[in-house]
Amino acid sequence: MDSVVNIPVRSNTRRSPSPELLALLQGRFAERFSTSKVVLLQHGTDESTYPPQPPDAVVFVRSTEDAAFVVRACARERVPVIGFGVGSSVEGHLLAVEGGVCVDFSQMDKVLAIRPGDLTATVEAGVTRGQLNAALQGTGFFFSVDPGADASIGGMVATAASGTNTVRYGTMRDNLVSLTVITAEGEIVRTASRARKSSAGYNLTQLYCGSEGTLGLITEATVRLHPHPETYAAAVVHFPSVRAAVGCVIESIQMGVPLARAELLDALTIRAVNAHSRTALGEHPTLFLEFGGSQGQVDEQAAVVREIAGGHGGGDLQWARLPEERSRLWTPRHHAYFACLQLKAGCRSLSTDACVPLSALAQCIEETQADIAEHGLLAPVLGHVGDGNFHCLVLVDPGSAQENEAAEAFSHRLVQRALRHGGTSTGEHGVGLHKMKYLVDEHGEHGVALMRAVKKALDPHDIFNPGKVVALAEG
Ligand SMILES: Cc1cc2nc3c(=O)[nH]c(=O)nc-3n(C[C@H](O)[C@H](O)[C@H](O)COP(=O)(O)OP(=O)(O)OC[C@H]3O[C@@H](n4cnc5c(N)ncnc54)[C@H](O)[C@@H]3O)c2cc1C
Repeated sequence: MDSVVNIPVRSNTRRSPSPELLALLQGRFAERFSTSKVVLLQHGTDESTYPPQPPDAVVFVRSTEDAAFVVRACARERVPVIGFGVGSSVEGHLLAVEGGVCVDFSQMDKVLAIRPGDLTATVEAGVTRGQLNAALQGTGFFFSVDPGADASIGGMVATAASGTNTVRYGTMRDNLVSLTVITAEGEIVRTASRARKSSAGYNLTQLYCGSEGTLGLITEATVRLHPHPETYAAAVVHFPSVRAAVGCVIESIQMGVPLARAELLDALTIRAVNAHSRTALGEHPTLFLEFGGSQGQVDEQAAVVREIAGGHGGGDLQWARLPEERSRLWTPRHHAYFACLQLKAGCRSLSTDACVPLSALAQCIEETQADIAEHGLLAPVLGHVGDGNFHCLVLVDPGSAQENEAAEAFSHRLVQRALRHGGTSTGEHGVGLHKMKYLVDEHGEHGVALMRAVKKALDPHDIFNPGKVVALAEG
């Protein structure tokens, strides 16, 4: 098993750009080209526990043509090309394990079109979800996918991201209409029309969604928008057990309550947020809920959930309707990640991402909590329970090989447990480097062979983010 301190550095296969290639890129991009150590380090670092792996150069692109130019130039020397959004990914996705040129999309930050009539918007890949929602203010519409971090739309497409809104509005996959991508030959391809549906050929849009930069660069995306509900209400309610809290969410969904958000924090996470946000929530498994609709619909949804929560032994629901009250009520959930990091001075978190069928969720979390206790780990648990997805933040001293290995061993057991329950190693973070070893367990030899065939067909010289997802060199 890999250790978090032993990143699979394949320096024997490092494919650095020649001085001529670097000069070509510098000539075209001038101050938008960098080989500064600080810039390289920033672009070879993500939110995982892996140590940095910097690329050889970084280019800040401003157009699809810029990105195509970089790909064509690098393809001639078979130098790796790694897309970069805001660097918030957590599984080693960005690390330049074979060197190469990092393409930073932060300057492709234009919202190109907002079409209320179609309920879509077209954006450049570097636009963040926050920037898109700011541009949508006053239109009555919003972009729903919310992975917590203010990630780029390109990065969110590349990782098939999701988050707290998914229970109602779906993942990035459900909110995509079409993409503009750059192929390994440097060709510019639009993956689909803007029609709401199509049966015309293979679904290239979904092929690139979740490809983690290994099939091509994404330069533009057309995404779905949703109308803001007339009103929202938020609620917080604690339960005697995780099983009871999960049961409440499942029964609410079965009753057709269109929950806008349903987040579970376990007792340890509540202790962390109490210390961080100066709240005084009871240290029990707790649901953070949000409802949206007309006034009457919200009242109705709330009444149904109150009754269901009572049936599962839930405490009194704390309610908030006004925007500032809702935001105050949800603050502990929004700060949970950073609050948990403060449970252990100087720690880093190895974040797990198991996702299982809803019916197996309570059992899987209970088994996982027993595992945490048995091995003496410090690992708060929080989850998007309406999707069957939960994260354990295993807090480790980055300098302790023993703690890192214990965290890795736990993560391994958790993945195997999720697979046994009919689930997946990763509900939303993606494969990166860290989950590669589980793809065969999840998809079988033939499934992974098909994926490798797709990679080979689209990127025969393995220039796009090599060494990730289904690494060709290892296949
Ligand atoms: C505190 C915290 C909470 C998080 N919570 C969630 C969550 O709830 N749900 C969730 O889904 N994720 C979550 N994440 C993970 C992360 O935010 C997502 O994976 C996000 O989608 C990454 O976007 P990014 O812009 O940071 O991409 P990056 O990290 O920059 O890149 C991610 C991957 O996409 C590729 N890529 C980026 N841009 C492009 C492009 N234009 N073309 C081709 N490839 C590209 C990169 O090469 C890399 O492989 C969380 C992260 C943090 C730090």
